[in-house]
Amino acid sequence: MGKTVAGLAVAVAAVACAGAVVVVSRRIRERGQRAKCLAILEEFRTACATPVSRLRQIVDALVVEMHAGLASDGGSRLKMLPSFVDVLPNGDEKGLYYALDLGGTNFRVLRVQLGGKEGRVIKQEYEEVSIPHRLMAASGQELFEYIAKELASFVNREGEGFRPHGNQKRELGFTFSFPVNQTAINSGTLVQWTKGFTCDGVPGKNVVQFLEEAMAKVGLQMKVTALVNDTVGTLAGGRYWNEDVMVAIILGTGTNACYVERADAINKWNGLLPRSNSMVINTEWGNFWSSHLPKTYADEGLDADSVNPGEQGFEKLISGMYMGDIVRRVLLKMAQEADIFGKPIAPKLMQPYTLSTPHMSKMHGDETHDLRNVAKVLKDAFNISGTSLTVRKIVYMVCEVVCERGGRLAAAGVVGILKKIGRDGTGAGAGGQPLSRSSSAKNVSSRPRRTVVAMDGGLYEHYGKFREYLQQATTELLGEEVAKNVLIELSKDGSGIGAALLAASHSPSQKNL
Ligand code: ADP
Ligand code: MG
Repeated sequence: MGKTVAGLAVAVAAVACAGAVVVVSRRIRERGQRAKCLAILEEFRTACATPVSRLRQIVDALVVEMHAGLASDGGSRLKMLPSFVDVLPNGDEKGLYYALDLGGTNFRVLRVQLGGKEGRVIKQEYEEVSIPHRLMAASGQELFEYIAKELASFVNREGEGFRPHGNQKRELGFTFSFPVNQTAINSGTLVQWTKGFTCDGVPGKNVVQFLEEAMAKVGLQMKVTALVNDTVGTLAGGRYWNEDVMVAIILGTGTNACYVERADAINKWNGLLPRSNSMVINTEWGNFWSSHLPKTYADEGLDADSVNPGEQGFEKLISGMYMGDIVRRVLLKMAQEADIFGKPIAPKLMQPYTLSTPHMSKMHGDETHDLRNVAKVLKDAFNISGTSLTVRKIVYMVCEVVCERGGRLAAAGVVGILKKIGRDGTGAGAGGQPLSRSSSAKNVSSRPRRTVVAMDGGLYEHYGKFREYLQQATTELLGEEVAKNVLIELSKDGSGIGAALLAASHSPSQKNL
């Protein structure tokens, strides 16, 4: 009997000991996994580093590419497209103008009654209309007729307070956010559809002609005065309120930038030089690339799996469509090599684009002590639950690295453009034409020149830490003194009203004001 009790005690001790061994070995394993995750994180952080010396190399590379793109067609990955916008709105515009903004799943129609310097925007109305999915694959005629019909019905509801100037025909600015070969301020051919559109018969044709024919067919009397890209619309919308706006940048799903260039610096320009000697250039900077840009295995994988490998390299590092997926790719490596979320690997973690940039910014904005928003996003995006605080901290850090790199690289882009137009404080370059009909001596004053960069896009608007990194790196690159005179400002939805304002500033009827 005594023997049995003693045996039992030994057995219990053995079990307890085995339990302790399991706990200890699990801890050792966890520690090993955590060390491996941290090593992956550190390796990634190093590969993403953007010290100011590197940013300066990127600034200089961008300036070189901008020069090359202006010198000849195909001279650079930067297309540097002349927009034919040689007059920006300055507040003098009067009358009724319409705008149509076609950029993706929706289009917006807008009307604005302009009252000159005194009255400014007297009245404004807009509507958003969704594009039925089937029309994205219909014929070009069908698509444009649908748009013209919706526009006509909006015009028919024009109420009190909206009046064309004199006997001016109604005029329209058309924001068309697809790649266009512009041939005049109010004409341009579609290079190719993007964003899921496949409407037959439009590529290679003048999109304004399509729209005008459709308007005629539905009995709408209206003239297209300006065809613009959304970046150019944003520049015009910003400039209307502030004559120091020289650059406009979109940081949304994708990214692009435009700026005011001296027309005689556009070597590839064959036309007459405009009277203002200025021209807005659409850089199409999403396609910028330089060997100085930090590229990791995650970026290489993302590019290889994308619909446009080898293209839009800068966009893939800094824009809203991609940053979330870069984070996912690093987490996947941690899952595969260090078992960060346990086994088996969640199928959604292996699936591209399951983690969006809004997801990423939600995790990165998590200020709770137990990072419960990180946990919630991991659950929502990947169906991963039960993570430890340590794991959530690592996930947070991956977001931080990707965001910091994106914001700082975007800053190098901003400063590259400022350098090209001589507004970076180094005295190089020479730009800064006022570019309005009433360009006057007041612009040539002794005060330090202020430069405003108009920003639009959901990424910039909603991702606070991205905005902070962008601002901080811009200040580092410019130095405090110069940075004081460079303002980066949100110019929300400027592109719609900007197109109406460009229709006004390019309208023949404005000449008589
Ligand atoms: P688009 O660029 O398609 O014209 P927006 O300018 O509205 O549209 O930008 C939308 C993009 O902005 C989204 O695709 C997303 O990547 C990004 N975005 C929106 N909200 C957030 C957010 N809270 N945090 C980070 N990025 C965001
Ligand atoms: Mg947009």
